Amino acid sequence: MDNRPPALIDTHAHLDNGRFEADRPQVIEAAKTAGVNHILTIGCDLDSSRASVELAASYPEIYAAVGIHPHAAREATDEAMIELKALAQQDKVVAIGEMGLDYYRDHCPHDIQQTAFRRQITLAIELGLPIIVHDREAHQDVLRILQEEQAQQVGGVLHCFSGDLAMAKACIELDFYISFPGTLTYPANQALRDVAEAISTDHLLLETDCPYLAPQSRRGKRNEPAFVRETAEELARIKGLSLEDIARTTCLNAFRLFGIGAPDQRSRIAYPIRDALYLNITNRCSNKCVFCAKFKDFTVKGHALKLEREPTAEEVIQAIGRTQDYREVVFCGYGEPLLRLDLIKKVAAWLHEQGVKVRINTDGQANLVHQRNILPELAGLIDSVSVSLNAADAANYQRICQSDFGQEGYLAVKEFIQEAKKHIPSVTASVVTLPEIDVEACRKLVEEDLGVQFLVRRYNEVG
Ligand code: SF4
Ligand SMILES: [Zn+2]
Ligand SMILES: [Zn+2]
Repeated sequence: MDNRPPALIDTHAHLDNGRFEADRPQVIEAAKTAGVNHILTIGCDLDSSRASVELAASYPEIYAAVGIHPHAAREATDEAMIELKALAQQDKVVAIGEMGLDYYRDHCPHDIQQTAFRRQITLAIELGLPIIVHDREAHQDVLRILQEEQAQQVGGVLHCFSGDLAMAKACIELDFYISFPGTLTYPANQALRDVAEAISTDHLLLETDCPYLAPQSRRGKRNEPAFVRETAEELARIKGLSLEDIARTTCLNAFRLFGIGAPDQRSRIAYPIRDALYLNITNRCSNKCVFCAKFKDFTVKGHALKLEREPTAEEVIQAIGRTQDYREVVFCGYGEPLLRLDLIKKVAAWLHEQGVKVRINTDGQANLVHQRNILPELAGLIDSVSVSLNAADAANYQRICQSDFGQEGYLAVKEFIQEAKKHIPSVTASVVTLPEIDVEACRKLVEEDLGVQFLVRRYNEVG
């Protein structure tokens, strides 16, 4: 077992701040010990942008962003913008910011703040760098300016997010990430935790904003990058995931946005989420569901699942390794596992010898694929099966799932569920929460006609 703490990235720190003057190297070392292997240090004006670039040049684990904070918006003159552009082209500068609007402290008239914000977005687009946005009590204006300036061309992050769910969704629409600092851990901030709960982990980043906003256990004291872990733990609790899941996913997000760190590529075939191990054995599928995330992106909770080729049963068993660590092992992945029936039978038999529970997540069309009733072959090997139903009638099913078998596919799914009850101890039919899916009609069908358990999955939360 790997006993190191999971790797985390602090995507927003002010390491140039005077409060780190006495012990900056020790603070950076403490971050590494806590698994915070990369830190993005952020400029707020020209002086701190210069200092951030220097810090990035001095420490391999530090990257820099350069920008002019709304408090300093008066500084964004023509000359300053020229220097900012030069700084932005230095090594290890990965973003422009922080920039934005702050109507809370209101250090600067709104029109000056807005002009500085717009000029920096323009610079970021010119350089092809993402932006780091500070927004305090200025949500509507921030969103409007991001839209008007077409900031989605470069994307970025709303740091220290303090808006509501509608604001978060609008930012995600614009290809922005949402970043949470230690405020997520403050008891009074339930509304913020509700936003974090509702948006997909694939759009979240973690930050400290140190030396400010220390998490609850150190509230009021100096914050530092190592303490990002407390926020990560809180996010894991909110999302019902493990710390490792949050670490892996937010690191991948930071890599995608800023090019910092290296995504974890180890888990293509067998990938842990929470206390289960998932097996990715094929990317082929008998459906082409309109919501399937693989058409956009082959990752699940930070695991890259695009297979170069399909693994053999021996390779799958090797990738599984120790089974004692898991509550169950699930054939899932981005593809239809029962297309590889023979492999499933071999691997499931081995898993049963290890005494671990085995589940299959399937589209339920295996009997059409194999042109026989395959369920008796799974008896004694599989403990539970979860079948994606997603519609209460064949026409809707075909619209949503686009089966290779046309509307016949839907009848096969229902028959598969009925047949599964005879051979597999636990059978579930699931739907995802999409506007075009009538969840209540499906519930009625599943509970009253099919007589199996019913599960609703949130469509934007894969895995
Ligand atoms: S059944 Fe699953 S893997 Fe296949 S297209 Fe639908 S969502 Fe994607
Ligand atoms: Zn800020
Ligand atoms: Zn900041």
